[in-house]
Amino acid sequence: MIVRSAEFEISAVRPQQWPDDGLPEFAFLGRSNVGKSTLLNRLLNRKSLARVSAHPGKTRQINFFRINDGFRFVDLPGYGYAAVSKRERELFAKMIDRYLIEREPLVRIFQLVDIRHLPSRDDVAVHAGLLELDVPITVVATKLDKIPKSQVAKQVRQIREALQTQVEIYPISAEKRLGLDELWALLESDMDH
Ligand code: GDP
Repeated sequence: MIVRSAEFEISAVRPQQWPDDGLPEFAFLGRSNVGKSTLLNRLLNRKSLARVSAHPGKTRQINFFRINDGFRFVDLPGYGYAAVSKRERELFAKMIDRYLIEREPLVRIFQLVDIRHLPSRDDVAVHAGLLELDVPITVVATKLDKIPKSQVAKQVRQIREALQTQVEIYPISAEKRLGLDELWALLESDMDH
């Protein structure tokens, strides 16, 4: 994919602010610090379009990015950040749920997990919820460069078992640019259908 243009469009706090032109959307979600902003920036070849926040969990909104005037990346708030109040957490969760359940242009959801660790309880619960939706899901296992090559297959297998899932798991490293072409190939094939 040649990214000719990538613009940050809006941080939406209300569904009324979601873009309404129907461009296909790819949503990204995962725990704070999993590497989501780094991945989005690398996919788009932009240094800091999706802000790599100094404070994990700072993103409180649904962020829409318009790419090549043809599709969107949607950055969902990171979950599992303990320092926010329960009430705040519930509000985010509600907003994300609403987006995932109602959003017509949503083509695929990417759930990010850290390849080094077993998925957290939050990761597992979120994944189970996603599987209930009528939207294709892909798990992206981030920070591939942090483990030896010899351990990749084992980590992926353990993540799959913990999530109890059949969906595809893509190991990537945003930092070392590993696996990004494969992700783009998937996005492109989604858009061809
Ligand atoms: P977010 O909270 O999910 O948006 O996570 P960030 O993108 O801010 O990344 C959290 C931390 O992980 C930062 O210190 C990044 O530099 C680091 N990080 C992100 N992706 C990678 C990766 O592929 N490899 C390595 N080694 N570190 C990464």
